[in-house]
Amino acid sequence: MKLTVLGCGTSEGVPLLIHPNDGLDLNNSKNWRTRSSIHVEIEDLHIQVDVGPDFRGQCLANKITKMDAVFLTHGHADHILGMDDLRRFCTVLGKPLPVYGNQDTLQRVREVFPYAVAETPAAPGYPCFGLIEMPSQLKLPQCTIQSVVLPHGPCKVLGFVFTESVSGKKIAYYCDCKQVTQDAFRLAKNADVVILDGLRPHSHESHMTLAEAIDVATELNAKQSFITHMSFFIDYKKHSQSMPPHIHLAYDGLVVNL
Ligand SMILES: [Zn+2]
Ligand SMILES: [Zn+2]
Repeated sequence: MKLTVLGCGTSEGVPLLIHPNDGLDLNNSKNWRTRSSIHVEIEDLHIQVDVGPDFRGQCLANKITKMDAVFLTHGHADHILGMDDLRRFCTVLGKPLPVYGNQDTLQRVREVFPYAVAETPAAPGYPCFGLIEMPSQLKLPQCTIQSVVLPHGPCKVLGFVFTESVSGKKIAYYCDCKQVTQDAFRLAKNADVVILDGLRPHSHESHMTLAEAIDVATELNAKQSFITHMSFFIDYKKHSQSMPPHIHLAYDGLVVNL
């Protein structure tokens, strides 16, 4: 089981455009954050969680060459606007690429990419998605994928937990959430890796702060925890110094082999 953090930045990316980004060391490549997403490989199965506007560059940078299914946390622009670039994966797959999400997210995909929601590509080389409402549990030969609803302002986000069939190893991905609910806690218990939204040091109405994410990670007590969806207020070196052991800031290109 292999996890790659393709991006760990907030919706605008880091550094922020046309802004001094005070306190952020731009000489540290770990402070250059593309929009948040992960890629999970379990045996021959390649799974993408979220497809933001940086997706094409993320695939090139991380040598992503296969895609069997896409799981969407929610329909905000920073999580879906790279979906047109799934076209090559659709062509290679030769059938509609399964895209899982909740009803609201799938409706957003229909509205933004109407030409791509079809049984066959609208023209050669076009993207072609098969939209599927995410159940609470999806069993595949290689793994089980569980979903849980997380609060994110007025938006309902799906958190995903991937459990490898052979080893029982578990990865939980809770991005874009103001809170980790009791159900989400229960699902992520004993996880090997947990990835949590930790936007910035000060509060936000729809994201956890860095301190809130650290509290959740401490309580979940996974073998390794990582913070994602970070803004320019978080400097990798400076904020890493005060992190508890086993809890780390993510960075683009981070790979965890389980
Ligand atoms: Zn986001
Ligand atoms: Zn969001």
